[in-house]
Amino acid sequence: MPPDRRTRFAPSPTGLLHLGHAFSALTGAARARETGGQFLLRIEDIDLPRCRPEFEAAIFEDLRWLGLSWPEPVMRQSERRAAYDAALARLAAMGLCYPCRCTRAEIRAALSAPQEGDGVHPPYPGTCRSRSMADAGPGDAIRLNMALALARLGARAPGFDETGPLHPGHHPVTPEALLADPGDVVLARRDIGISYHLAVVVDDAAQGITEVVRGADLFGATGVQVLLQALLGLPQPVYHHHGLIRDASGRRLAKRDDSRAIRAFRAAGESPAQVLARIGIAALPDTGPPAPAVVP
Ligand code: GLU
Repeated sequence: MPPDRRTRFAPSPTGLLHLGHAFSALTGAARARETGGQFLLRIEDIDLPRCRPEFEAAIFEDLRWLGLSWPEPVMRQSERRAAYDAALARLAAMGLCYPCRCTRAEIRAALSAPQEGDGVHPPYPGTCRSRSMADAGPGDAIRLNMALALARLGARAPGFDETGPLHPGHHPVTPEALLADPGDVVLARRDIGISYHLAVVVDDAAQGITEVVRGADLFGATGVQVLLQALLGLPQPVYHHHGLIRDASGRRLAKRDDSRAIRAFRAAGESPAQVLARIGIAALPDTGPPAPAVVP
C-alpha cells in the first residue's frame, strides 16, 4: 500500500470555475481517496487586484455542489506573505538573487527579436544581473540567477517523478533546459512582491502536499519549481499532470469561457452527475467527511 497521498486543488479566484477545473479538482480528490489520504483546497490569490470575492465564493459553492469536501480553514496565498518573504530572503542570503528594473519592452529590445504572441518566452538577457540586492528599490522585480543556482546544486540537478497519464516516469531537469527556459526567472514581481513559482513551492511544502495534481499546461513549470524546492531544502512531491478539457474546436477552456462554467450547467438544470459525465467521470469520488483541519 503506498503512503497516504495528500493532494490539492489550487484555483485563482479570477473567474468562474469551468469543466476543466472540475476535472482537476475531482482527479485530485480521487487520487487522495485511493490511498485514504487527504484532498486540500488552496486559494491562489497572490495577484489580489485580479481576484474577486464573488469568484472565491463561487469556487467553494461549485466544488461543494460537485460533492467535494476539504479541511477548513483553507490556505489563502494573500495571508502568506511572511512565508514568501522568508523564502526569498533565504535565496537572497545564498547570493542567488538580484533586483531587476527592466520593463518587458526593454527585455524585448535587448533580445532584438519580437516575441509578441508566438508563445515563446526567451530567457532574460541579463541586463541587471550584476546589480546587488543591497541596491534593490521598490520598483524592482527580484530575479534568480539561474547559473549560480545550478552551480550551487552541483551534481544534485533536480528531476521529478510524474504519475500523470501523458508523460509517466522520471523526468530529469537539465541545467541546459533551465537556462534556456525560464532562465533567470522572476521570484518577486514588482507589482505584488512575489511570483507564482515561489508561492506554489512554499505552499505545497507548508501543506505537506505529496502529489501535485494539475493540468498538463503546467507541466513546463515543474522544472523550475523542483529547482526551488532543492535550493530551499523542501520536500519534493510527485507530479500528476492530467490532460486538458477542450471545447469542440480543440481549444482548451479558459476562465473567460463562461458557457463552460460549472454554474452555467447548474443554471441550466443539470445535476452534478450530468456535469461529471460531460468530463468522462462516472462517479463522484467519496472524499468522506472533512478531516480535522491540518492547514496551518
Ligand atoms: N493557481 C494556478 C491556476 O489557477 C494553479 C497552480 C498549480 O496548480 O500549481 O492555474
